[in-house]
Amino acid sequence: MTVILKRDFFKDSIINIATLIEQQRNHLTELDSDIGDGDHGINMSIGFREVSKKIEEFDDVAEDISSLLKKIGMTLLGKVGGASGPLYGSFFMKMGESIKGKNEVTFNEFIDMIEDGVLAIENRGKAILGDKTMVDALRPGVDYLRSSNIDNNELEIFSEFVSVMKQGSDNTIPLVAKKGRALRLGERAVGYRDPGSESSWMIMNVFYEEMMNHTKINSNKVQV
Ligand code: ADP
Ligand code: MG
Repeated sequence: MTVILKRDFFKDSIINIATLIEQQRNHLTELDSDIGDGDHGINMSIGFREVSKKIEEFDDVAEDISSLLKKIGMTLLGKVGGASGPLYGSFFMKMGESIKGKNEVTFNEFIDMIEDGVLAIENRGKAILGDKTMVDALRPGVDYLRSSNIDNNELEIFSEFVSVMKQGSDNTIPLVAKKGRALRLGERAVGYRDPGSESSWMIMNVFYEEMMNHTKINSNKVQV
């Protein structure tokens, strides 16, 4: 059995990520008020409202998943002023680079896409594990995906991936920040969750929920 992720899976996931961001706008902003400048939810909302506005147009003109994701990344990059805009922008832009010409991908290809996206965030922001950033959720998540043994259990693996990321976000709470705005707080950042680590596991959870929603058994393939 093979999990196939179709173009609509990506489009619907993006639409639902935009809904998630609206729902979590205040929460993300409150987290950023504790140790940043109180705009993470606002920044994400500005970016994803624009994505929502343009998604149908993007879907009409994009020839493949790669081009659709690139347009989403470029919108975030262009619209969002904070650190999170260029970081999430790079994530979506890089995510589709290896799958040019495709309108469906395998689960393994999706793992590669996520890894490429996370590498782009790491290259751009230069944060490593323990710096109290979104990388503290994303890096352990990718390492888990890489080490997982896929054997008809793709949904379970993706569910565990989200749990690993959530744990990574929890792990930011006792840390002193080494990157981002919380850096200047020193010890005063201890006891607070990094806002970007929260938004990043929540975004991946939307991809998981979308995999669950779209799963239909079709001959010997799970079409997602
Ligand atoms: P800003 O910090 O410019 O106000 P946001 O509030 O939207 O932007 O986003 C803050 C989040 O961005 C942080 O919680 C952190 O997860 C992430 N972040 C900031 N700098 C970096 C970096 N260098 N590498 C990775 N993530 C970072
Ligand atoms: Mg901020």
